[in-house]
Amino acid sequence: MRQDPSGRQRGAGQAGRRGGLFGNFRWIILLGFAVYGGCYYLSNRSVDPYTGQKVLIDNSLDAEQEKALGLQAYQQILSQEHPLDPHSQVARQVREIARRLIAKVDVVESALAAEHGQQPRHFSRDFDWDVNVIQSDQANAFCLPGGKMAVYTGLLPVAQNADAVAVVMGHEIAHALLRHGAQRMAQQKLTQIGQMAGAASGMDAQQQQMMMAAMGYGYLLPYARSHETQADEVGLMLAAAACFNPQEAVPLWERMDSASGGQAPPEFSSTHPNPGTRIQNLQALMPKAMEYRQRFCRGAAAGV
Ligand SMILES: [Zn+2]
Repeated sequence: MRQDPSGRQRGAGQAGRRGGLFGNFRWIILLGFAVYGGCYYLSNRSVDPYTGQKVLIDNSLDAEQEKALGLQAYQQILSQEHPLDPHSQVARQVREIARRLIAKVDVVESALAAEHGQQPRHFSRDFDWDVNVIQSDQANAFCLPGGKMAVYTGLLPVAQNADAVAVVMGHEIAHALLRHGAQRMAQQKLTQIGQMAGAASGMDAQQQQMMMAAMGYGYLLPYARSHETQADEVGLMLAAAACFNPQEAVPLWERMDSASGGQAPPEFSSTHPNPGTRIQNLQALMPKAMEYRQRFCRGAAAGV
């Protein structure tokens, strides 16, 4: 739009200044934002004890704030959906699966942290865990920051057994333990800094869109996929430590894949373009999961 003839004419008198003073000014703005973004990035890096990987989480975001954000979203979702009576048999069974998984969070965190030469942080000890079953055709489940969970009834016929439900819930719990929500918030902040830099330096809307698309494909989407892979691993270890059969994970994801065929995929597969890769990863993790089962599944009730 700015390239129309009248715009060029109008800008002609400023051409010298654009190349000189304004051109420099634009680079100074970009540099300022780059320094700001860089400082934010460097000062909020930490090592995640579950994975041993460096992650970006805003240091000012503590467990209480995460819990408050999670609770707010949870109440909103529950008010819009149809939660089952908590005394119903299904709700009690799901709650029992959650209880067994949560009981193993500390030992699994300590074991994974030790494997990565890290100290466990036990961030989730402050969580207020809760689980509801929501009446819905969706084969889905979630765990929000702070430990508020839901399982949709549509998941149960696809899961077919308690072991597979535990694999899905373990995956969702792992997202909360790994603070993936907080990591996404930090990513969004960096993205906003990028957008502000783009706008302040005079990029037009199309250039800004192209920059955001490049970031999305090149950085944010692979990042989301790596979160899914991490949640698969930590969730599988939790399920195994809680005496569930981790081997149910493979047929579960095969059923999930065929159940979601042609429809919008649920949360836990939407960022996974290739279900075959996921199954291969899970198969590779199976010896470790069986080892966790042997180490940590002692005396707990096996059947639900
Ligand atoms: Zn997921």
